Amino acid sequence: MSRTFAMIKPDAVQAGNAGKIIAHLQDAGFRVLGMKLTQISRQQAEKFYEVHAARPFYGELVEFMSSGPSVVLALESDNAVTKWRETIGATDPAEAAEGTIRKLYAESKGKNAVHGSDSDENAAIEIAFFFSGTELVG
Ligand code: UDP
Ligand code: MG
Repeated sequence: MSRTFAMIKPDAVQAGNAGKIIAHLQDAGFRVLGMKLTQISRQQAEKFYEVHAARPFYGELVEFMSSGPSVVLALESDNAVTKWRETIGATDPAEAAEGTIRKLYAESKGKNAVHGSDSDENAAIEIAFFFSGTELVG
């Protein structure tokens, strides 16, 4: 078993799709180890997406991610990082496969409903960014 970090972004929470996305991920075989509703601050969003700081969409991304509540989740499954990326689909919903969360719920390449870690190393960093050890179930 391994872990990944997931986020239900402000667009999906605002649209009332958080419950459906949680049901979807549980049906896909993920176990929730930690979950909370939080409005990410501007500073947290800047830090979380630091790797994209030089990209033209960074300012808009930080603005969007701190614009309303998100649901942050620590998930467990076999090959959690890869499996979650497959479950959410491509960054741009226009390119996401049928049945993926982004195909079902994303509005656009920027407002794309969910986040998923891109490596085991980043999954550990991102889980620790939002959860203390005692906030995760064993
Ligand atoms: N993003 C954007 N425009 C782009 C590429 C990315 O607004 O051209 C946003 C989008 O919300 C995406 C996030 O920046 O989810 C992080 O980009 P990344 O390439 O890491 O995509 P992801 O790993 O989320 O699929
Ligand atoms: Mg990414």
